[in-house]
Amino acid sequence: MQRDLSIQALQSGERWDVLIVGGGATGLGAAVDSAARGYRTALVEQGDFAHATSSRSTKLIHGGVRYLRQGNISLVREALLERARLLRNAPGLVNTLPFVIPAYARWEPLYYGLGLKVYDALAGRHGIGGSRRLSRDETLETLPGAAPEGLCGGVLYHDAQFDDARLAIALMRKLIALGGAPLNYARVIRLEKANNSVTGVRLRDEESGHEWVVNSRVVVNATGVLADDLRVEDDRRRPRLLAPSQGAHVVLDRDFLPGSHALMIPRTADGRVLFAIPWQGRTLLGTTDTPMPRPPRTPKPLPEEIAFLLDHARRYLRRAPEPGDVLSAFAGLRPLIQRAPGNSTASLSRDHFLEISRSGLVTITGGKWTTYRKMAEDSINAAARVGELPERPCATATLPIEGQAAAQSLPGEEEVRRAVTEEMARTVEDVLSRRSRALLLDARASAAYAPQVARWMAEILGKDPRWSEQQAGGFQTLSADYLPIS
Ligand SMILES: Cc1cc2nc3c(=O)[nH]c(=O)nc-3n(C[C@H](O)[C@H](O)[C@H](O)COP(=O)(O)OP(=O)(O)OC[C@H]3O[C@@H](n4cnc5c(N)ncnc54)[C@H](O)[C@@H]3O)c2cc1C
Repeated sequence: MQRDLSIQALQSGERWDVLIVGGGATGLGAAVDSAARGYRTALVEQGDFAHATSSRSTKLIHGGVRYLRQGNISLVREALLERARLLRNAPGLVNTLPFVIPAYARWEPLYYGLGLKVYDALAGRHGIGGSRRLSRDETLETLPGAAPEGLCGGVLYHDAQFDDARLAIALMRKLIALGGAPLNYARVIRLEKANNSVTGVRLRDEESGHEWVVNSRVVVNATGVLADDLRVEDDRRRPRLLAPSQGAHVVLDRDFLPGSHALMIPRTADGRVLFAIPWQGRTLLGTTDTPMPRPPRTPKPLPEEIAFLLDHARRYLRRAPEPGDVLSAFAGLRPLIQRAPGNSTASLSRDHFLEISRSGLVTITGGKWTTYRKMAEDSINAAARVGELPERPCATATLPIEGQAAAQSLPGEEEVRRAVTEEMARTVEDVLSRRSRALLLDARASAAYAPQVARWMAEILGKDPRWSEQQAGGFQTLSADYLPIS
């Protein structure tokens, strides 16, 4: 099993060049960057890879029309370049997606049309299809699910879409292929220091309870919304940085959004951006922006978030979804950087934050999935300086990332076996939520299927029937959180 190999490597007593804490988009990206430069690299994640924010995104690889509106031109330009790179480097996981903004006021086609011409211009030669204004009939042809009353036209533009958890798993596999050692269910409980410099971490294997110290020339803190915990442990005087904000999504049947185009509402009545997106044979609707000063360990969509999403879907979709139509609902926490305390989270920056502390801890947080590669490049440049590693250029701009988006069907025995033996799945949730996306596509169906997956996993992992009963029961309890209104 791959996990045993990673444990062996991490217990060998060797001193790593770079140790990454956190196995989401940021940490996995940084680990791949580091290993691709030839540095000895390990990554530890306290839960499953991408179990936190990185499997709960809107699944868009985009420049961010919202940031364009905020005038954040450099961020949009950088994200559009990364979009092009991802489409080229990970074609099995990322695809182009046409979007239509339906217009219900006469000024909208011209206003949004002009804005999207700027978006096209910023993409330049990295563009993936230009924007254009649509007549009312063309809008209804491309978006047959849009509410026709009051519709006066639309604007077509292009962005990209991906499978977030599968891209994370593909990065984890790439890290192994490059000689790195990723380990899930391994929590950093303390930073180790000598002469006021970070020398490694104390690690606990969350499965066995075993604890040990891993030494490294540099430690990179890529713990997302939890980044302040390690920063403050490192230096108690440091002010906290993050203002987490929750975003919820609901998943509906494909019939609510027939056709191949996504629907985008640039500004709802309360100033949010809303998407309805064809994803994995379903319709994904999101998202909200709810400040969470004390973020929960596992975020759950709030009843008012679901009500908000369904209410807006009723305004913009021909077929009005009811609470009973929700196949699954999930939420994630944005690691927003707080520049001006007290501001509303909607105006906080999505830019990333990189810090080297006095003790040499490198922290990288914020940003978005789309820019994970650039964040990785910046953080490993910093890590190489801190660890006095031999200077080597970043190699990820053209590095292929092999992998496929998950299948739309429930996983069969062979897929479960691959998930366990090659992709370090340890629980039924790992298989049904992130190796496949069954939990997000249909929470009820995945709960009904959980006992079968648990039996297969028990056989592969050599566990007894009690383990599979506990796993299936635990998953069924968890799946109820994805159906908060049933
Ligand atoms: C609702 C929503 C929608 C979004 N949509 C998009 C989108 O469409 N496109 C886009 O580009 N971006 C999107 N984003 C942003 C994107 O998802 C995030 O920027 C990105 O996933 C953050 O990754 P991360 O690795 O920094 O954090 P995380 O994924 O949270 O990973 C951090 C990891 O660190 C681990 N960790 C913490 N403490 C420890 C410890 N002590 N020891 C070991 N491990 C530890 C955690 O368990 C966690 O897995 C969205 C975000 C949200 C919330």
